[in-house]
Amino acid sequence: MSHFVPETAIDHDAVIRRGGRNLGDEDFALFKCPGCRAVYLLEYEVDTVYLDGTDLSKRFDATDSAQEFVCLGCNTAVPNGAWAGPKADDTFRVTWQELKASSWAWVATPLRSFGDET
Ligand SMILES: [Zn+2]
Repeated sequence: MSHFVPETAIDHDAVIRRGGRNLGDEDFALFKCPGCRAVYLLEYEVDTVYLDGTDLSKRFDATDSAQEFVCLGCNTAVPNGAWAGPKADDTFRVTWQELKASSWAWVATPLRSFGDET
């Protein structure tokens, strides 16, 4: 299902430029709230959720699994589990259309999705 934004399409440098540095070795992936489709950026090296594409200082620390991540869009706890990566359920995956409509539209471009070229 190629209409999902692949992790390789994420512009890592752009995230860092906009203040997205976390603790080093950042690995970014997108996921969305299955309920309202709000889009979030996940830094899964540390498990930090970036809440707002216009302000990367707004973050949620997801390292404590006892602390539920409550979606800002619909005020509902996002179920724990694989939000990103190969095991992620499709309900968490972000489509290009959803990305475009979100504050994260800048974070990836469709052209990059074809590239293993560096
Ligand atoms: Zn939601």
